Amino acid sequence: MNDLAALDHRHLWHPFTQQSEWTATPPLIVDRAEGCWLIDVDGQRYLDGVSSLWTNVHGHRHPVLDRALRDQLDRVAHSTMLGLTHTPAILLAARLAQVAPPGLTRTFFSDNGSTAVEVALKIAYQTHRQRGDLGRTHFAALDGAYHGDTVGAVSLGAIPLFHAAYKPLLFDAVALPAPVNAGGDEEARCLHAALDALDAVGPTLAALVIEPLCQGAAGIKRHSPAFAAALAERARKHGALVVYDEVAVGFGRTGTLFASEQVGVAPDLLAVAKGLGAGYLPIAATLTTEAVYEAFLGPFDAWRQLFHGHTFTGNPLAAAVALASLDLFETEGTLQRVAAIERRFARRFEVWRTSPRVADIRQLGVIAGIDLLAADGSEAPPSARLGHRVAMACRRHGAIVRPLGNTLVLNPPLSLSDGEADLLLDAVEAALREAP
Ligand SMILES: *Cc1c(COP(=O)(O)O)cnc(C)c1O
Repeated sequence: MNDLAALDHRHLWHPFTQQSEWTATPPLIVDRAEGCWLIDVDGQRYLDGVSSLWTNVHGHRHPVLDRALRDQLDRVAHSTMLGLTHTPAILLAARLAQVAPPGLTRTFFSDNGSTAVEVALKIAYQTHRQRGDLGRTHFAALDGAYHGDTVGAVSLGAIPLFHAAYKPLLFDAVALPAPVNAGGDEEARCLHAALDALDAVGPTLAALVIEPLCQGAAGIKRHSPAFAAALAERARKHGALVVYDEVAVGFGRTGTLFASEQVGVAPDLLAVAKGLGAGYLPIAATLTTEAVYEAFLGPFDAWRQLFHGHTFTGNPLAAAVALASLDLFETEGTLQRVAAIERRFARRFEVWRTSPRVADIRQLGVIAGIDLLAADGSEAPPSARLGHRVAMACRRHGAIVRPLGNTLVLNPPLSLSDGEADLLLDAVEAALREAP
């Protein structure tokens, strides 16, 4: 094993990773990238089938983004947002107000998705408090939800595998039944029960928090725009705020710049991260309305300010790339590309649906979840590591994908070409043929 691999195994601790398994095999060490391709230290090329964890938008080392980053680097790499401001953060906040769902005119920056959600929770709670509504201490989220790894975001989460260990540290959240697929009887049943659950907490509800249209880490679970809209409207009827977590689905992945656009009901708070920085640098934002913002105004010593802020908030390098990325959506017709990828995937999925190895496929924009079955058509137990083994087989065929349990996830950069889409699909197909 080369020196880097040995050093990794000796000194690194990887996220969501059983290290005893990790250190048993040599790691793939990424050295560089171009477009939708990652290149390892041995010069092997791999299609980045999950956009470096759902972050990369226009491909790696895009000349326009690289230039925006270098230009900003020639000015200043970091300056604080506490007591000072800077050009890229100002321009990005103004630009987000133009492109975001209606009414979201204020941006609070942070640096990752968990903090973007955490900030939304604190803003929601404090807004009610400062409006004199002290009893709103409950949050509602969808069953199976994942909203990040900080303790507040984990409190909303409902993935037992990730969240059970921390239970004693968390605040209670109301888990609303959520379907696996959009439309149909299952969704109707979930909606009925979810609305009842919202009615039951009614005047104590601070906010409803949902990932609109597609629950990513939950296993690429889908619901219809009407489902999200009905929940949002019911929460509002009870005087609660509506928070959309678009950390995963934002920035074009579902076919529109924000999934909210398809829901038709704009939120009071919107959390974005992953794709905001185009997959280049960590940056996140919590957007809100003037009505929410105004609840925080008053004389200095009324202590109505939002007592929250991260050191690297609104980092200029990341903000400069985010701005350039929003330009690219217009100059490169990125959303048309998403529609083309979605159609190309859909054609191949028609065939896969008939495979004895595939239980279900859910698709939206460039996002797809493929529920895998064992070779004999049965459900594979977690110990069989089926998703993991198929992902490793994909790697041998030149594509990096990552499973969520036995669900294989595809979520490529939005710049994926037709030829690259075919390579990715071919790799998965070959892996499915091989996997025991
Ligand atoms: C990834 C994710 C988060 C957490 O973002 P981090 O940057 O990993 O903290 C929150 N919500 C959703 C929906 C996500 O997919």
